[in-house]
Amino acid sequence: MELPVATAEHVVKEFVSGFGIAVPRGATARSAEDVAVAAGGLTPPLVVKAYGPGLVHKSEAGAVRLGLGSPVKAARAAAEIRAALTGSGVTVEGYLVEEQAPPGVEVIVGAVRDPSFGPVLLVGLGGVWTEVLRDTALRLCPITEDDARRMLAELRGAALLDGFRGSPAVDRDALVKLLLAVGGPGGVVESLGEGFTEFELNPVICTPEGAVAVDARLLGPADVTPRECAEPLSQNFDLLFAPRGVAVVGASTKRPNFGNMFLGFYRAAGHTGLVAVHPTADEIDGVPCVPSLEGADVDYALVAVPAERCPDVVREARGIPFVQVMSGGFRETGAAGLEDELLAAAHDAGVRLLGPNCMGVYSPAGGQTFIGGRPGRPGRIALISQSGGLAGEVIKVGEHRGLAFSKVATVGNSADVGPAELLRYFAADDDTSVIGLYLEDPRDGRALFDALRAVSKPVVALVGGRSAQGHRAAASHTGAMVGDARVWEALAMQAVLPLVTAQDDLIGALDLLDLHAGREVPVSPDVLVVGPSGGASVLAADALDRAGLRLAPLPGVDLGLPVGAVPGNPLEIPVGPRGKPDLVGQVVTAIQREADRPYPDVITHVNVQSFFTFGDSADPLLAYARGVGELQRELTGTRVILVLRNAEYAPAGVEDELRAIARAAGVPTYRSVEAAATAVAVAKVRDQRRRA
Ligand code: ADP
Ligand code: MG
Repeated sequence: MELPVATAEHVVKEFVSGFGIAVPRGATARSAEDVAVAAGGLTPPLVVKAYGPGLVHKSEAGAVRLGLGSPVKAARAAAEIRAALTGSGVTVEGYLVEEQAPPGVEVIVGAVRDPSFGPVLLVGLGGVWTEVLRDTALRLCPITEDDARRMLAELRGAALLDGFRGSPAVDRDALVKLLLAVGGPGGVVESLGEGFTEFELNPVICTPEGAVAVDARLLGPADVTPRECAEPLSQNFDLLFAPRGVAVVGASTKRPNFGNMFLGFYRAAGHTGLVAVHPTADEIDGVPCVPSLEGADVDYALVAVPAERCPDVVREARGIPFVQVMSGGFRETGAAGLEDELLAAAHDAGVRLLGPNCMGVYSPAGGQTFIGGRPGRPGRIALISQSGGLAGEVIKVGEHRGLAFSKVATVGNSADVGPAELLRYFAADDDTSVIGLYLEDPRDGRALFDALRAVSKPVVALVGGRSAQGHRAAASHTGAMVGDARVWEALAMQAVLPLVTAQDDLIGALDLLDLHAGREVPVSPDVLVVGPSGGASVLAADALDRAGLRLAPLPGVDLGLPVGAVPGNPLEIPVGPRGKPDLVGQVVTAIQREADRPYPDVITHVNVQSFFTFGDSADPLLAYARGVGELQRELTGTRVILVLRNAEYAPAGVEDELRAIARAAGVPTYRSVEAAATAVAVAKVRDQRRRA
């Protein structure tokens, strides 16, 4: 069936009924007078609606009449609608007369096309009230039956479906079937393909007898500019992260610029095989020059020349596997045409393009850098970032705390190499065990979703720009309710992907995932919290609650708790300058031994300030940290976490020393219980995935 833009309701209904979706029996008439005849075979009560271009929200325009007792009354109602619409600017093309479905619970089922993730399915309660209630659940299409059932369970008003205050339970299976018929494999959304922007059944009336779509709306075709999906030329990024030679294009002999800065970075990193490209100079900043990329025997070229010149430079890069365009001034400033030209140049030259508008690549083992100074020690954390600046901060601050990275890629505008492809590479990379993502607007969202579902290594994502919602021009309720934040939440649920909301939490989560990577702990939301102070314990409980973690009660046996302990979870124990450094170890070991279900995670916290108020040496605090380290060595099947509350109170250097002691034992440290709880919550999402 050929479906035009803003399709008439009866045409959409006929189309969806082909997918097994129940719609009211009905007929159409071109004029109000013909409605009586058209309604001949229908059983009252009847409904009459006008249709025509521009009639999107019919009842608002006065184009819907309900509860009509006979075909003649239906015809009269149609005439009244016509009279009401006269002069309103709306052209009535005809009338739909149909049987009125019995009342029930009204739900909305809709789909929109997200610009990067493709079709998204929405279900919500409330029929006409949905936008007010905003009680909706989302999934990326295609959905599974499990997704459909979970979507319904997620609704705050789900109890309405099960019968409320004497009303009978609706046929949930019929609604699940309808959701699958819309958003499942081979469903309405899939068969519409590119041919829609918004699709909506609102309302679907649910009763114990079934689910009937009494209204259907289809807007399209989609305004999608399909991305050119040329087959990737190379999936192997080994040389990107360990190039045997690097050429820098754009460094100046007179006025130091970004190119000169990068020459400096590579020299500081001790890179051998560095050349600068310059038409006349023999050397720049002590680096030998070649006149063009054509004469450079390198695996990687960094281009930092004005945007208009970049396509030409890239054309000269034939034979070089990877070219990074650092320059900005492309799609991000509205110059999409220039970016297309750049991509075409890269394709012509057979090179893979990183950027434009990106900082580059960092890999301590492979001599790649963009951060200045000496690279850190090689580690096992990989990062893909759509912001170069943020990636630099995560590396610098992370390394300061003791984290170590395998490979970091900033992708900028991702004209060619994008997050999805890099994620697939890191998923198989022997040097990487944990992957972090910073994303704003992944242009290959669909591929990223698929890659996220396929990767078995732990991944944590920080997504920026999620609050910038409502920019989507929407003609349907569904369209208005699918904000970016909701799409990401749906994706996170379907891909079992933990999301964090701050840069510091990304670092904290990566640290915990990396340090505890090898530990297989029981899959449960349980956490034990141990430390001094009543107030801190109460606040810790609140913080864990917010993070969705559970403070399971202590085992109900004699644990031989020390004097001054207040039993419970959080467990309050005296920790201070005069306390026993191994106290926390003894207590926690006893608890884990006695517990029927040992705690997967133990957060130990300490008030650093008290050690320097009631004492004057760091030694007891260092001894305490060593005690926590011992505890971790003892409990190999438990993730131990150390929180140094009020660490800023310690004399200079002490916090770093504490961190180093904990890290040596595999224990990550945080400055607040909130930060620790966020990282633990990320690990718990990861655990769930391991089980699945
Ligand atoms: P609108 O374009 O305003 O969304 P609808 O076709 O959804 O128009 O009709 C408005 C309301 O009338 C619906 O929300 C529903 O409550 C009711 N309605 C419409 N058609 C039927 C029908 N066949 N049976 C029962 N109720 C109906
Ligand atoms: Mg409607």
